[in-house]
Amino acid sequence: MPSLSEETNGRIERLMPGSTIGIIGGGQLGRMMALSARYMGFRVGVLDPTPDCPTAQVADFQIVAEYDDKTAIHDLAVKSDVLTYEFENVDADAIDEVRGLAAVPQGTDLLRVTQDRVNEKQFINDHGTATAPWRAVNNFDELDAALDEIHYPAVLKTRSGGYDGHGQTVLRSDADLEQVRARGDRGGGFPPSILEGFVDFAFEASILVSGNGTDFVTFPIVRNEHRNNILHMTIAPATVSETVARKAHELALRLAKGFELAGTLAIELFVTKDDDVIVNELAPRPHNSGHYTIEACSFDQFDAHVRGIAGWPLEQPKLLSPAVMVNVLGQHVEPTRVLIADHPEWNVHDYGKAEVRHDRKMGHITVLTDDTAKTVADLEATGCWDDLQPQSAKA
Ligand code: AMP
Repeated sequence: MPSLSEETNGRIERLMPGSTIGIIGGGQLGRMMALSARYMGFRVGVLDPTPDCPTAQVADFQIVAEYDDKTAIHDLAVKSDVLTYEFENVDADAIDEVRGLAAVPQGTDLLRVTQDRVNEKQFINDHGTATAPWRAVNNFDELDAALDEIHYPAVLKTRSGGYDGHGQTVLRSDADLEQVRARGDRGGGFPPSILEGFVDFAFEASILVSGNGTDFVTFPIVRNEHRNNILHMTIAPATVSETVARKAHELALRLAKGFELAGTLAIELFVTKDDDVIVNELAPRPHNSGHYTIEACSFDQFDAHVRGIAGWPLEQPKLLSPAVMVNVLGQHVEPTRVLIADHPEWNVHDYGKAEVRHDRKMGHITVLTDDTAKTVADLEATGCWDDLQPQSAKA
């Protein structure tokens, strides 16, 4: 892997309005990135296999092809001044191949680190930041040895490709381990994995950091509530001690510096009862838990991403109001649409996805408020999200 400084040698100076930003991936994150970019005067192209995908609806052009289609990535690079991506599972080699055609201010090390949970944990630890204890495990013998050190309960995750809890198993006892073995014996094999100690967290949180390669700014630490392993709500800001807020801010800056970050990076955190802040994982892009910034901050995570990859200076964002963000999944589309007209306080974002599916992220709603607890209760009282049980009630 080349060093980070080599990776970023090719960084663009300053991108002028009128230039074209090519986005790999055309979902809601690309859409909101594209909207920010267009407000700033950039042109936007998107590569996505679905014609008229959420990003294409607000972009100047779309290349309809699979994300890993090298010819399509080449075409996008030819038509763009800068390339970026809305998700981390992009072929880093394919991007490296077109770096002479378009600038890639984020580099590809950021992708290579965040695509692999072992590389990611190592990078985080190397930058003075705590994670759960972990071991790389590639077969059952290594899993046994790792369990001897880490003990139950532990979480077994695939090194790559997992998201929203996919590809992970909580191991609480030998019985759970036997189930994993049985799965392997049935032909499931043993994909390269990581075993992590189970963190007894007080709550989950996240922090966004944005940069332009040399200067970095952080957004406030926020609290995240998941249901069925999918983000349900974000409460901004999280109610935390000054110590926790400071630790989150400092670790975000350390990681951003380590990556020579250009654009926005999301850091998912566990906050413990003893005010420890432990990093769970990184997302090298804007993040669902940062959508509140659109209304609640002086500029949002997408603006910051675009400014960062354009090599523009960044100002420390201000939180203008506390906020609650709730996701609208496929099953929430109908119930929320019935109520939208009666809720002028709802800032509704519809991602324009043609196909409504259960658990698919279709949109989100942000409410600015002086009383986040009351707003959470008011939202839940609508009944729109009644299908989602609290995580603890499920366990
Ligand atoms: P991930 O895909 O790594 O973000 O994990 C999905 C969810 O699983 C997280 O949001 C946590 O709720 C839970 N989780 C993941 N890793 C751990 C861990 N080491 N200890 C406790 N809970 C975890």
